[in-house]
Amino acid sequence: MPTKIILDENEIPDKWYNIQADMPNPLGPSYNPITKEPVKPEDLAPIFAKELIKQEVSTKRYIDIPGEVRDIYTLWRPSPLYHAERLEKLLKTPAKIYYKYEGVSPAGSHKLNTAVAQAYYNKKDGIERLSTETGAGQWGSSLAFATKHFGMECTVYMVRGSYEQKPYRKMMMHTWGAKCYPSPTSLTKSGRAILEREPDTSGSLGIAISEAVEDAVTHENTNYALGSVLNHVCIHQSIIGLETKKQLEYDDKTADVVIGCAGGGSNFAGIAFPFIKDKIDGKNPDLRVIATEPTACPSLTKGLYAYDYGDVAGLTPIMQMYTLGHDFIPPSIHSGGLRYHGMSPLVSRLHADGLVDAVAYHQNEVFKAGVAFAGAEGIIPAPESAHAIKAVFDVAEECRKKDESKTIVFNLSGHANFDMTAYEAYFEGNLPDYEYPADLIKASLKKLPQVRA
Ligand SMILES: *Cc1c(COP(=O)(O)O)cnc(C)c1O
Repeated sequence: MPTKIILDENEIPDKWYNIQADMPNPLGPSYNPITKEPVKPEDLAPIFAKELIKQEVSTKRYIDIPGEVRDIYTLWRPSPLYHAERLEKLLKTPAKIYYKYEGVSPAGSHKLNTAVAQAYYNKKDGIERLSTETGAGQWGSSLAFATKHFGMECTVYMVRGSYEQKPYRKMMMHTWGAKCYPSPTSLTKSGRAILEREPDTSGSLGIAISEAVEDAVTHENTNYALGSVLNHVCIHQSIIGLETKKQLEYDDKTADVVIGCAGGGSNFAGIAFPFIKDKIDGKNPDLRVIATEPTACPSLTKGLYAYDYGDVAGLTPIMQMYTLGHDFIPPSIHSGGLRYHGMSPLVSRLHADGLVDAVAYHQNEVFKAGVAFAGAEGIIPAPESAHAIKAVFDVAEECRKKDESKTIVFNLSGHANFDMTAYEAYFEGNLPDYEYPADLIKASLKKLPQVRA
């Protein structure tokens, strides 16, 4: 059996999958942050491209991938599916372990799948510049490359903590022609307000989102792009799971367990949703789907399923999701990509409906799994992806104890080639295991907005 299952370029799917067509309970509406009435498409028009707004509320099962987008996808897609035999040996498990590797994209993670699509639709609408936030820098660098390709400008508000920890992500964005600022900045009203209150803040994704949205609202030629959470992002990422299903078929396998890490939920949605369709349809009723997150930012496992803003300043629509409260500022753990107070409304709905399990891990056990994986399979996983690997280790161990040869599939969302300072901290014993205090979550949850639901 082959180590990696590789599709031809002409096997790149020509349609994305939209789980809104199949989920047992539809999403509740989102609400306008000012009027508190359900969001109308025209509310979103100042910051999003027309087609993206359409996709956001679409219940069409399959959505055509434009030719120009598929054309750029060929730079790194189809991405390989690896059969991790060396890892199986290391874990002495009868389980079969497969991983989809999204680190082959030029920016090193799955985020380019949606960055390219978003840049394309905005370019089509005549937009000349995109503004965005970035946590760890993967999203900012993905959007920088995508906008560069379409001849657009790009402004990135980067969470200050990561801006200082990750100079190389910044240089990638510069290489691809984007401007990148440490957030909070004094360039926006929301940034200045935070700086007055907390001049030494290390920033947060919620704050950076406020800045980027404000930038788009206050500039005519500029739209906003979000790298996760939203329905259209989950739709674009479905290409991961669609390819994976085809690749597993080539190896005559059906997934028993599908695992992904979840920050805003997009790479998890990408690998999982096409498989969840089979679970809903009764084709694979026993499928287990697991989302993993850090104990330091445990939105699915410790948050509330409620209506909340997507950002700190309350500029985004109010969405129904698992949330720790919009002014929750997670501690500065290294997996920057998992430091978001909320969760994709689609992933949240499916978790609430029992189709998705969630588990939270401490970062030392996560890095331990990441290092073991790297030793067996070579690729050094992004700290975010290592959260998924820790769950794979646990399920593989279960299989060993019960002598079950289940097929485990997980998404290796990116590599750690620009995150080695996090590994350094782990090797030096400088990573605290941090459980966010329950009373702080409680305090933050008291400030949820009221909607006329
Ligand atoms: C951004 C990122 C994540 C987390 O974001 P999701 O939207 O939850 O996927 C996970 N892994 C990597 C490598 C990332 O860059």
